[in-house]
Amino acid sequence: VGLVVALTGGIGSGKTTVADRLAELGAGVIDTDEISRALTARDGAALAPIADAFGPDIRLADGTLDRARLRRRVFADPAARAQLESILHPLIEATMLERLAALQTDYAVLVIPLLFETGQQRHADRVLVVDVPESIQIARVMERSGLSETEVRRIIASQIPRQERNARADDRIDNSGERVDLEPRLHELHTAYTQIAVKRSR
Ligand code: ATP
Repeated sequence: VGLVVALTGGIGSGKTTVADRLAELGAGVIDTDEISRALTARDGAALAPIADAFGPDIRLADGTLDRARLRRRVFADPAARAQLESILHPLIEATMLERLAALQTDYAVLVIPLLFETGQQRHADRVLVVDVPESIQIARVMERSGLSETEVRRIIASQIPRQERNARADDRIDNSGERVDLEPRLHELHTAYTQIAVKRSR
C-alpha cells in the first residue's frame, strides 16, 4: 500500500456508505467497527479478557457476549468504559495493522469513527472526513436505529464537534445530498489517492 487514508465522521454521517463505494472503486478498506464486532463475536480474541474483567455474567448462556448488558455497564460507569477500551483498543489496532500489512491495493482506507477522539491519526497519511449537518445526522440515525432524537443528540455531543473535525481534515466529502451526489467527489478522491500512492511507491 502506497498511501493510508483514515476515514472518519460523526455517527450516521455516511462513513460506511463512502467506504463501500471506495472499495468498489478499488481501495483496500479496513473497518474498525467490523474488527471490533469480530473480536467480540463467538471465539473472538476479546471475549475471554472481557469476561475476566466484567465477570462471567457478561456472557449469555450460549457463550456469546451479552452486548446489551455490557452497554449498560459501561454507560453507567466511566471506569468500566475505560477498562473495556483498554481491552479492545490494542486488539483492534493490532488487527488493523495486520490487515493493513496484507493489503495489495494502491491505497488503504481505515474507517475509524472516533479517529480524533482516540488520537489514531498516526497510522494515516491523510484524513478524509464525511460531513453532514447535524439535522441530517439525527434524521438518518433515528430512521436506521430507532433511537430517539435526545439519544442521538447525546451521542453527537460526546463526539468531537463538527467544525473541529472538519478543520482537522485533509479532505472532506459532503454527504448531505442523495447517495448519487457523492459520485463526482468519490471519483475525484479515488483518482487523487491512487496517484499519490503510485507516485510514493515508485
Ligand atoms: P455509524 O457512525 O452509525 O456507523 P456511518 O457513518 O457509517 O454510521 P452510514 O451507515 O453509511 O453512516 O449511513 C448512516 C445511515 O444513513 C444509513 O442508514 C445509510 O443507509 C443512510 N445514508 C447514508 N448516506 C445517505 C444519503 N446520501 N442519503 C440517504 N441516506 C443515506
